[in-house]
Amino acid sequence: MVSRVIPVDRFDLVIFGGTGDLARRKILPGLYRRFCAGQMPDGARIIGAARSDLDRGAFQDMVRDAITEFGTGAPCEGATLDDFLETLDYMRVDARGEDGWDALKDMLRDDSDVVRAFYFSVGPGLFGDIAARLQSHGLATEDSRVVVEKPFGRDLGSARALNADLAQHFREDQIYRIDHYLGKETVQNLMAVRFGNVLFEPLWNAQFVDHIQITVAETVSVEGRGAYYDKSGAMRDMVQNHLMQLLCLIAMEPPSRFDPDAVRDEKLKVIRALAPVEPHHIVRGQYEAGGGVASYRDHAENPKSFTESFIALRCHIENWRWAGVPFYLRTGKRMKARMSEITVVFKPTRHSIFDIGEGEDVHSNMLHIRLQPNEGMTLDVTIKEPGPGGMRLVTVPLDMTFSEALGPEAEDVPDAYERLIMDVIRGNQTLFMRGDEVEAAWAWTDPIIAGWEARADVPKPYEPGSSGPEDALMLMHRDGRRWREIKA
Ligand code: NAD
Repeated sequence: MVSRVIPVDRFDLVIFGGTGDLARRKILPGLYRRFCAGQMPDGARIIGAARSDLDRGAFQDMVRDAITEFGTGAPCEGATLDDFLETLDYMRVDARGEDGWDALKDMLRDDSDVVRAFYFSVGPGLFGDIAARLQSHGLATEDSRVVVEKPFGRDLGSARALNADLAQHFREDQIYRIDHYLGKETVQNLMAVRFGNVLFEPLWNAQFVDHIQITVAETVSVEGRGAYYDKSGAMRDMVQNHLMQLLCLIAMEPPSRFDPDAVRDEKLKVIRALAPVEPHHIVRGQYEAGGGVASYRDHAENPKSFTESFIALRCHIENWRWAGVPFYLRTGKRMKARMSEITVVFKPTRHSIFDIGEGEDVHSNMLHIRLQPNEGMTLDVTIKEPGPGGMRLVTVPLDMTFSEALGPEAEDVPDAYERLIMDVIRGNQTLFMRGDEVEAAWAWTDPIIAGWEARADVPKPYEPGSSGPEDALMLMHRDGRRWREIKA
């Protein structure tokens, strides 16, 4: 297969928070893997900027350790790692002070052919300070880009304030709001399958789709970040961003072109068409203690916490395409298995010419889009069970990942962060959230959260290692449907 990796321009990438957890676990090992893949141009430079008092050598040592610990899978030898470390530099800066900024400016190349990007891998409380100092110290240029991490606000008001802070110093086409779910291979493959084939799009509507499920199940607890998580909960931490983004891509109208604003305009229309969720269509849960692990409330160090570590909800998109089609979303911690999956359940055939025995299921086609683990897609199709004994129907999965057809290169896909950072350098905003999208998502989420607070809604306890509270299963059973089994 001929590789069609789009080369990137030379760049200076400054990572604010370059010594932090996210930089060490994801950003720097991701950049290293792109370096190993030969995708980093000569003259690429990465500059860590943080509060710690390090020099270049100490930062390189820190990055070497981080890559050893987290950079699994990088097909690189020791000498290549040394070459990568040579691209690094470090400057101590205080986002809230003036020290270090002029020296950081001197490190950057004054060359319009070199892309200049600033990654804000720090808490959102520092976004405005950093943006302002980039301007006041003359580091920001007409074309430089800024990358901001989640959480982008905790409600509509705070998201608007963040957008306004950034807008004072940067245009929207310079701002890259990360949602790493959008960087996943299968998420992009979903668009290719929908809009690159004639087969699916005619069926992608209320006439043929019974319902759509989105599950993001995690096995981890909130241990270690319980106090932080307790101020947020599953709705703010997962639904408002990741699940909403997946919902948008699955439900949006075909954009006129695969171009950043065309795609994001269509996603925005989906969010704006979401109906308010009825309180009885939401189930919130909190994990109990079990399996040698403490309960959510213990992890949150808040014995009276009403914050949810699990949520399941049913929502509706009020437009022509999706009228009457429920979308079921669920996400939670301490669940049975780690699994992120979207399933499109099609309606059964209008009339079955086959005898269906009592108790036997009517077969429906289902398209499963798996984000993790084992990214891939399968389509359940109905065929005749082989062998004698009459016409019995079975459902078999049709593997649509095509890894065999595409060869080993199809296996060697970049991780979500790697892809997104390279998109920043290429100047492609398609897989980044626009400011109005984020605000629209909060505008939908805020009244739901306000309702819980007004009612002092208490989450249902659930057993760790389960599929969540019983009521979440009932949410579907009441509608005569069932969730996909959570399994790795
Ligand atoms: P962290 O606390 O581990 O690191 C924070 C970094 O910011 C450090 O490098 C620190 O030196 C720097 N910093 C703090 N105050 C500073 C100041 N005044 N001036 C200059 N530098 C300062 O945090 P993290 O976990 O790396 O998270 C960074 C951001 O990424 C946060 O917004 C977080 O919500 C987001 N995020 C993190 C993860 C993750 O897995 N860690 C995942 C998704 C999003």
